[in-house]
Amino acid sequence: MGTVTGVNPDERCPCRSGDTLGDCCGRYLASAGGAPAPTAQALMRSRYSAFAVGDAEHLLDTWHPSTRPVGPDLDPDRRWLHLSIESCSRGGPFDIDGEVEFTAVYRDPAGRGELRERSRFVRENGRWYYVDGDLG
Ligand SMILES: [Zn+2]
Repeated sequence: MGTVTGVNPDERCPCRSGDTLGDCCGRYLASAGGAPAPTAQALMRSRYSAFAVGDAEHLLDTWHPSTRPVGPDLDPDRRWLHLSIESCSRGGPFDIDGEVEFTAVYRDPAGRGELRERSRFVRENGRWYYVDGDLG
């Protein structure tokens, strides 16, 4: 698993929270030490940012072992443009599970596309994990 290079903590976070990468998802990425995300929504955002910057290690680290793939499908031709969190239930620091519904916009050689998913997360040993999701 390669280390992500060329990630600048001062640039705009790919999840478009309005913060810099270093003050937002960057803290949770494997390339920056992988601090545990405090909420399901923070993990959702950091996983989106991991797709955007190509941090496969973060995606695997935060994928629940019961559903974790052998290797995440990081398509180098797919550029992630935008993330909208549509809704969020539970997923707080004192919950053990949560759901986050989001829309992610991307562009690849076939054009612009949208991925809408309701993702399920669980918290175990103080860490949130992505379990699975329903495409909407
Ligand atoms: Zn972010």
